[in-house]
Amino acid sequence: VCAASQDFDFFYFVQQWPASYCDTRRSCCYPFTGKPDEDFSIHGLWPNYENGKWPQNCDPESSLDESEISDLISTMEKNWPSLACPSSDGVRFWSHEWMKHGTCSGLGERAYFQTALDFKNKSNLLQNLKNAGIHPRNGEHYSVESIKKAIEDGVGHTPFIECNVDSQGNHQVYQVYLCVDSSASNFIDCPVFPHGRRCGSKIEFPPFSSTDHDDF
Ligand code: 5GP
Ligand code: 5GP
Ligand code: 5GP
Repeated sequence: VCAASQDFDFFYFVQQWPASYCDTRRSCCYPFTGKPDEDFSIHGLWPNYENGKWPQNCDPESSLDESEISDLISTMEKNWPSLACPSSDGVRFWSHEWMKHGTCSGLGERAYFQTALDFKNKSNLLQNLKNAGIHPRNGEHYSVESIKKAIEDGVGHTPFIECNVDSQGNHQVYQVYLCVDSSASNFIDCPVFPHGRRCGSKIEFPPFSSTDHDDF
């Protein structure tokens, strides 16, 4: 591993709201392990530069060695499910995240996944939202500011909220970005927020009920 592979400023720790991945025109596919819980799940831990750019694929020779994370697999199935189609066991998604982002993180494979799992627990997003009266519910609209405040109150740092659009055209919470210092120890204030992923001022936070999606 060359020194350049650890040359970045901070991480984005990105979590997705599965209901919002699934209720778009593109829909989704549940993993082989079944419908994920109604909870945020991990998308990835992404090294980033303060100028908004990022390194990726820092070791083209590497590949995911499942034997290094065998004891984490069941926790990852629960907290880091893949909702892309076709249905899978998650290994493709984890492998993609490891190759593209993990190899630039300065962490070993096992530490990369373990760290992301730890930050998901620490962020406790859904509970922080519920504590502020923000519940997944159809037809209810929340301001981006109220969602950010609820998470800031729980985590101690302001997140970035990314929205997408459901099949009826409603803007909704899709991903939550928190920032982590480059040694992967603590949440920090984001040095820069991602560009060009605005939300409307009032957005939905859809429930993940089984009638909300098409499974192929
Ligand atoms: P999208 O175009 O769907 O927003 O992002 C596609 C992929 O590009 C993401 O899955 C992620 O791998 C990478 N990506 C997008 N935005 C960022 C960013 O701001 N920082 C980093 N490190 N990666 C990003
Ligand atoms: P990124 O490059 O943006 O980090 O990751 C996105 C890639 O992972 C895409 O190729 C996407 O198809 C795949 N992927 C697999 N499962 C998921 C999932 O549950 N959520 C997202 N956002 N991407 C997924
Ligand atoms: P600003 O000029 O403050 O960067 O952006 C103001 C606009 O961005 C407002 O429409 C506000 O609702 C929106 N906004 C504020 N915070 C966020 C966020 O975390 N994510 C997204 N996507 N939009 C935001």
